[in-house]
Amino acid sequence: MSVIVQKYGGSSVADVEKIGLVADRICATRDEGFGVVVVVSAMGKTTDELLGLARSIDPNPPRRELDLLLSTGERVSMTLLSMALQRRGCDAISFTGSQSGILTNDWHFDAKILEVRPVRVLDELARGRVVIVAGYQGMSYKREVTTLGRGGSDTTALAMAAALDAERAEIYSDVDGVYSADPRVVPAARHLGELTYGEMQSMSDAGAKVLHAPAVEFARGKDIPVHCRATFAPGRETRISRQALAHRRPFAVVGQPAIARLWVAGSDRERRIALQATRALSVVPYAETRGEEVTELRIATAHVPDWGRTRDTLMAHPGITLEEGAARVTLVGGSAEVHRATLRAVLAEAGVNVLDVDTHGERVSALVAATQQDDAVRALHARVILDPDTDD
Ligand code: ADP
Ligand code: ASP
Ligand code: MG
Repeated sequence: MSVIVQKYGGSSVADVEKIGLVADRICATRDEGFGVVVVVSAMGKTTDELLGLARSIDPNPPRRELDLLLSTGERVSMTLLSMALQRRGCDAISFTGSQSGILTNDWHFDAKILEVRPVRVLDELARGRVVIVAGYQGMSYKREVTTLGRGGSDTTALAMAAALDAERAEIYSDVDGVYSADPRVVPAARHLGELTYGEMQSMSDAGAKVLHAPAVEFARGKDIPVHCRATFAPGRETRISRQALAHRRPFAVVGQPAIARLWVAGSDRERRIALQATRALSVVPYAETRGEEVTELRIATAHVPDWGRTRDTLMAHPGITLEEGAARVTLVGGSAEVHRATLRAVLAEAGVNVLDVDTHGERVSALVAATQQDDAVRALHARVILDPDTDD
């Protein structure tokens, strides 16, 4: 049977009326003869609200309890959607992450999927049922409930699509695809009709929240085409696939807020011990540079649930210095080395103070003051993406 995986984000299931509209769409896909697996996010801003509730009790909530709490958001939407489908005469069943066979490691709040064993999902598809899977959650090898990192329902969807060898995965949200910049920051951003897996991966790794970074590799591994669409405004879409024509010059600008820089100084042994201490605190740097005397780590802190306590513990460690208040802006596509100079020139012209520049594959990033993040994104978009004069 050909299987289609559809993922609906929080804004698509924000209220009961929207859940009904989504149910109509799912019934129509099933009536076309596909096996349908649906991954849902929590309704609207539920995850933020639950996190706020936890923080009102403890500003640094214990991650295990937080995972159990946050996983309830997706359990609410999955059951309501299943009820809406059954009410429409469309046979359906909902499963939590663990019931769907999503096995993870034990990194609470940021767990990685180790394996998907979709035996129950396959059984129910064979019975002709639509299967609803709670996004963003799994079960660790310790049989604990885990969550996959903010935005993780995309990863549930694409990991499930890969495990089921799906025909394609459809990601429904409030935007009709992927743009050359976040349209909320750059209203003139260009719609991107096609992207390769590598291009999407680069954007997500740079912090574009339109698709959760770990999701892309699951689709790429099994060559599953991904179509990103708007739930309630059908029309354009972005297709992510192996066949897509790769861009030859920069095609997107991505901003990522709340970057902390951490410097670890001392002898090799002292540095090893200090780095071990950061790992024990579940700090996962996106970059680590080893210098002669100092190792520098960069950490995106926006989604570290216990950052306040983590920061204090790190700063109390001898040999560690920490600075916050930075943001990262990244130009994606083309030759990073070639565009390094362009990036510096454009940001200087826009009056943005650049703290550092680094390159990574087809990406060149500048570290800037957090207060200048959006200005930097807008300047790069106007001068490099939209203005052909800066072509290489
Ligand atoms: P969902 O809850 O459906 O997963 P998200 O809020 O996680 O939706 O992702 C969609 C949002 O991603 C959009 O509202 C948009 O503001 C933001 N976004 C950031 N960068 C981009 C981009 N390059 N293209 C499209 N949307 C982007
Ligand atoms: N509900 C989770 C979040 O808000 C997961 C998701 O929406 O993808 O992060
Ligand atoms: Mg999302």
